[in-house]
Amino acid sequence: MLSVEEALDQILSRIRPLGTELVELTAALGRVLAEPVVSRRELPPWPNSSMDGYAIRADDTRAGGAELVVVGRIIAGSMPARALRSGEAMRIFTGAPLPDGADAVVPQEDVTGDDARVTIPERVEAGAFVRRAGEDVRAGDVVVEAGQTISAAEVGLLAALGDARVRVYRRPRVAVLSTGNELAELGTEPEPGQIPNTNTYALMAQAVEAGALPVSLGVAPDRLEAIVERIRWAASADMLVSSAGVSVGELDLVREALVRCGAELHLWKVAMRPGKPITFGSLADRPVFGLPGNPVSAMVTFELFVRPALRKMAGWSAVDRPRIWARVLEPIRNPGGRRGYLRVTLARDGREYGARLTGDQGSGILRSMVRADGLAVVAPDTIVPVGERVEVILLRALEPRAPGR
Ligand code: AMP
Ligand code: MG
Repeated sequence: MLSVEEALDQILSRIRPLGTELVELTAALGRVLAEPVVSRRELPPWPNSSMDGYAIRADDTRAGGAELVVVGRIIAGSMPARALRSGEAMRIFTGAPLPDGADAVVPQEDVTGDDARVTIPERVEAGAFVRRAGEDVRAGDVVVEAGQTISAAEVGLLAALGDARVRVYRRPRVAVLSTGNELAELGTEPEPGQIPNTNTYALMAQAVEAGALPVSLGVAPDRLEAIVERIRWAASADMLVSSAGVSVGELDLVREALVRCGAELHLWKVAMRPGKPITFGSLADRPVFGLPGNPVSAMVTFELFVRPALRKMAGWSAVDRPRIWARVLEPIRNPGGRRGYLRVTLARDGREYGARLTGDQGSGILRSMVRADGLAVVAPDTIVPVGERVEVILLRALEPRAPGR
């Protein structure tokens, strides 16, 4: 059996980033930059005032203040009529360009005077209340690296640089297939012996969280030809993710169906709990995953293997979820020879986080996922005692929450 790290290495070594596309800046939030953003401009483009006040020559105040003649008025959005000479001041407003010859601004609340003359009460340093040209960004600066997510701040900066469109990686299209005679489609009443199809919806939601575009291939019954047919529908997708039917039972037909479609299978069993039977292969150069059927196993294996693969396809330089160390609040047991990925809630306790199991860790217990802030990584045959620290893969942004929830 492979370790999780070996399996992930094998998977990622076969994944390449997809192509790129140009999108409007207004649609770029959350996308991944495909090329570095190099500024063609200076920001600010010219020296300007950071206050409402008077543009002056600092040197005029060398003697400990000055009385200056007001020779002009510069509002934001206009240019100074002429350069400033010694003995002169110009009324200036926040964001307005400094006139040539001026090198400082005195805030209006620090001066006395009228429309014609102002008295500066003390010496002013050159550069006071002036935003220098290029102090934020210089032409030629790399302001955002390729592989970074475009968040609100990047959108603002790109707008400041005048970039109406931005080159991003294409989002992977993921076809999601569920298999099993027992599955009733959402919106239909389960027949006797049927259960609601859970995985299609959970996995599609995880795909969206990972930045991908999921499409559902519905449910295939446990018949080889039916599964083969659905797999063929996935031909236009960048990746296929199916769940269930990958174990050793006689109705576990997903692997056979993949091979029938021409897939090459690279791995099957990974030493982890929940999980273990997970198939990864290539079908016409595109990755295919066969995840286990139990809803928790499907979600956890998606987190550990499919999400990093999608992130790599989508161009992200960071493909992993962040991890933290948390103090164990109740003993965490992981019996058996496989590494555990156990669902925990995290609560802030002073300077650190405390981790507590979400309850029953059975691979069919969806509520253990609902309450999970993260997955505690626990070695085989281990009991982590109270007070010891455990590594936790964060599944969501941590919200402040009362300790001991
Ligand atoms: P299998 O791997 O096909 O043996 O499935 C393992 C378990 O997961 C069985 O109890 C299935 O009923 C359940 N299961 C498989 N697929 C789904 C699904 N899409 N939604 C909910 N449960 C599922
Ligand atoms: Mg089944």
